[in-house]
Amino acid sequence: MISKARLQKLAEEHGTPLLVIDHDELRKNFQMFRKYLPRVQPYFAVKAGADPAIVRTLFEEGASFDVASMPEFKVVYEKIKHLPARERQQWIWDKIIYANPIKPVETLRELNKYKPLVTFDNLDEIEKIKEHAPKAGLVLRLKVSNTGAMVELSSKFGASPGEAVDLILEADRRGLVVEGISFHVGSQTTNFQNYVEALNLTADIYTEAKARGYTKMNLVDIGGGFPAPYDKTVRPFRELARLINSEIKRLFPKNIEILAEPGRFFVATAGYSVSKIIGRAIRDGKPSYYLDDGVYHTYSGQVFDHCMYPVKAFKRGKAQLSAVFGPTCDAFDVISQAEYLPSLNRDDLVYSEKIGAYTYASATTFNGFSPAKVVHVNE
Ligand SMILES: *Cc1c(COP(=O)(O)O)cnc(C)c1O
Repeated sequence: MISKARLQKLAEEHGTPLLVIDHDELRKNFQMFRKYLPRVQPYFAVKAGADPAIVRTLFEEGASFDVASMPEFKVVYEKIKHLPARERQQWIWDKIIYANPIKPVETLRELNKYKPLVTFDNLDEIEKIKEHAPKAGLVLRLKVSNTGAMVELSSKFGASPGEAVDLILEADRRGLVVEGISFHVGSQTTNFQNYVEALNLTADIYTEAKARGYTKMNLVDIGGGFPAPYDKTVRPFRELARLINSEIKRLFPKNIEILAEPGRFFVATAGYSVSKIIGRAIRDGKPSYYLDDGVYHTYSGQVFDHCMYPVKAFKRGKAQLSAVFGPTCDAFDVISQAEYLPSLNRDDLVYSEKIGAYTYASATTFNGFSPAKVVHVNE
């Protein structure tokens, strides 16, 4: 937790718009994940908060990483490239999964040097991998139910259960090695049953593959989706963990490695934004505040992540229904039409909490406004 006084001080020191990342909170979230899911190795999904400092802290805690582009791969590889070649190969598998099922040929060619784990979900990708990255280890991405997730992730990726084993056998016929199966139940999943269903489906596919003669699979990657505690409606992580643990224990022998790809869960609560009121007006009878940060910037999560970040004042005072806008000329740049704020003046600061996931990571420079400055505390 960063106190309001500290946030204000940081804003005075660094200016606004500001995005503060609390590394104690990153460590706390990581440790909670390990504590409640001891059999699961977390591969942090770098896209949720792509920052080398975050990668460093989580690496030091013992995290592995899910990357989905070559630049993300390189940020993580920086951490292991100094290791002796012999050890490096094991480290790459232990530390990185390239979890984008569709990879440009140029990326595959480059990845082939490192022989990482990569996901796939269709025949065309098998052909590409065979030609350009035959040394990679393959993980089949399975399409699973995303019901009740805030962000749906199954419409674009995933082999259907009916074609899964055919694809595994096809990859095998071409001399590739399929190491296991992955899925994603949808981001910020509040429907815990999705994990149960997906794990059972995965176990069925393991059984079918074995029955059809393929026995080389040894990992299950349960993806991301672990919900951040944005508000009180989100059930505690330990409840979800209990459910996952018992299903894993029931369905998979001990020698099967279990991976996960949490993104949001590690970084959401570690982020705080502080911005400044640069103008005010009365519109439709409502006090309307214009901030130096908006939906093209730190609040981009409201668009891409379907998440809302309440705007809060440091000042006390009688709350009034107010509107909060971003700084650009676009009428789309609305943070909220209904925020309860005290009467605020130009240059007053406001803040939002739990704004670390899919926020500054998707900020643009639209209209010439720079994204918030990122500062790291408690590193
Ligand atoms: C985005 C993504 C994640 C992270 O998901 P969260 O819901 O943030 O935990 C994990 N795996 C894959 C393949 C993703 O695309």
